[in-house]
Amino acid sequence: MVVILNNNATETDTNMLKEYLDAYNVEVRETKGSTMTILGLVGDTLSVDVDSLRAMPFVDDVKRIQEPYKAANRKFHPDPTVVDVNGVKIGGGNFQVIAGPCSVETEEQIIEVAKDVKASGATLLRGGAFKPRTSPYAFQGLRANGLELLLEAKAATGMPIVTEIMSAAHLPLFKDVDVIQVGARNMQNFELLKMLGKQDKPILLKRGLANTIEELLMSAEYIMSEGNQNIILCERGIRTFETATRNTLDLSAIVVLKEKTHLPVVIDPSHATGVASYVPQMAIAAVAAGADGLIIEVHNDPAKALCDGPQSLTPVQFDNTMKKITKLRNFMVTELAN
Ligand code: PEP
Ligand code: MN
Repeated sequence: MVVILNNNATETDTNMLKEYLDAYNVEVRETKGSTMTILGLVGDTLSVDVDSLRAMPFVDDVKRIQEPYKAANRKFHPDPTVVDVNGVKIGGGNFQVIAGPCSVETEEQIIEVAKDVKASGATLLRGGAFKPRTSPYAFQGLRANGLELLLEAKAATGMPIVTEIMSAAHLPLFKDVDVIQVGARNMQNFELLKMLGKQDKPILLKRGLANTIEELLMSAEYIMSEGNQNIILCERGIRTFETATRNTLDLSAIVVLKEKTHLPVVIDPSHATGVASYVPQMAIAAVAAGADGLIIEVHNDPAKALCDGPQSLTPVQFDNTMKKITKLRNFMVTELAN
């Protein structure tokens, strides 16, 4: 349920209302938007008397939220959330590109790729240290050592780092990571989500291979319900009957998510298509559809990559893609705003 206050509501009114709501045993979250203040009520709101609330002179409207996700709901928080990663902002008109290899392989590799993608305009560095591989015999990532190398690349370039967590038990190792990624395979690992909700680092939450948009939002809700509101959603392709691409990129998820939630949305055209030559155009399409950012795999020698080489762009291909994306973003901001 949301209680929308009118423009004349004072802080005393808001506090009075919060005290009144205390009796109902619901959690009250206040959002001061650009045009209005909203009190979002989370919990069992069935007993809350809507008519009494509406009768209060400083209350404009009261709405029950039908959707099962509340904190992630745009009705709860009409202004877009801007996630701030050590000064790099994403959402609410701030567009960012996360780039780097699928996996951290060597010191030279990660530092070289980091420098290259930074020079092309990427603002965050990706790189997997703990890798969720289909086969237990495939390269599993450099694990803690991979995190160390990412931190070296961060020190060398100043880029914040984004890397995947696979187990809550590893959380202490992530203390210097800037954005913790929850991979598609862990989107519904609810115990992991709850743990990540109890800490305050931004989370890049990827949509599961066969999960609906509502399920993605419910996973965000798990994190938010524990306190952490810094979530970036990521569409990375879903599994369909189509085999020409690794997954099917659901670009319409951007417009659906923009309507339903205030959280920023990034697109991963690399895992969505699985084919490097398809990545640039899908990246451009995602930008045109209103994505707040992209996450793109880039490798200095894709043919020798230990993971996901076929979908990795070379630094030159990435640079070329970034030039087009920058032009399109500028055109959108100057010519297509509103
Ligand atoms: C990744 O980003 O390297 C990854 C494993 O992605 P996903 O979880 O989307 O498959
Ligand atoms: Mn990958």
